Amino acid sequence: MKIVIDTHTHSVASGHAYSTISEIAMAARKRRLKGFVITEHGPALQGFPHVYYFGNINILPLKLHNVRLYRGVELNIMDSSGEVDLNHRYLRPLDFVMAGLHEACFLPQSESENTAALTAAIANPFVDAISHPGNPEFPVNYETVVRAAVSAGKALEINNSSFRVRKGSEANCRTIVRLAKRYGALLCCGSDAHFAADAGNFKYALELIHEEGIHADQVINSSVARFEYFSSCRKQARLGAC
Ligand SMILES: [Zn+2]
Ligand SMILES: [Zn+2]
Repeated sequence: MKIVIDTHTHSVASGHAYSTISEIAMAARKRRLKGFVITEHGPALQGFPHVYYFGNINILPLKLHNVRLYRGVELNIMDSSGEVDLNHRYLRPLDFVMAGLHEACFLPQSESENTAALTAAIANPFVDAISHPGNPEFPVNYETVVRAAVSAGKALEINNSSFRVRKGSEANCRTIVRLAKRYGALLCCGSDAHFAADAGNFKYALELIHEEGIHADQVINSSVARFEYFSSCRKQARLGAC
């Protein structure tokens, strides 16, 4: 299986990343990706883009340096009710809406509170996928999270950067992948690149997925058609929820 679209990248607009969108596109082309999603953080974190960034996102070209550029976001989950930090009207036109737990917006709590936050975000009709659910800073009940994702048709990310920067993620990611295989959950592989050279780097995530025998059908960014089908279904659902 190949990953052809990177569903998780950050540019200088995120405040703590170091490459432009154009540089990420060139790096994606070098790695022979078909496309990438630009997923800046939601505005609740200090230094992150103003909401005007998302209001203006349609000016971005659909193709850049011969790779497809998809418009996305990585929202912050704000509380255990699954509240996120961007108004629905900015989320409606996006191609891919991820939400994740970040310490600056949601302090790690008990396993049941963290699990409630993730399952509520999964149930949020404006959210398509959960970023880095394997983060050991936020202990969760993976059985509950994976089953919630299956019933809502949402994707769980196997985040390649987690293997390096979120120590202890590997065992959690393996648990997620095994449960995803058992229950048929959708997965996505994201680099979480904060520098262009890391865009399209799925080394550890992909090794894990291969080791556990996950079929390409379950990985939404293993083909352009799979990703675009998932994205268009989710867009329709977001429109229906307005
Ligand atoms: Zn994140
Ligand atoms: Zn990220």
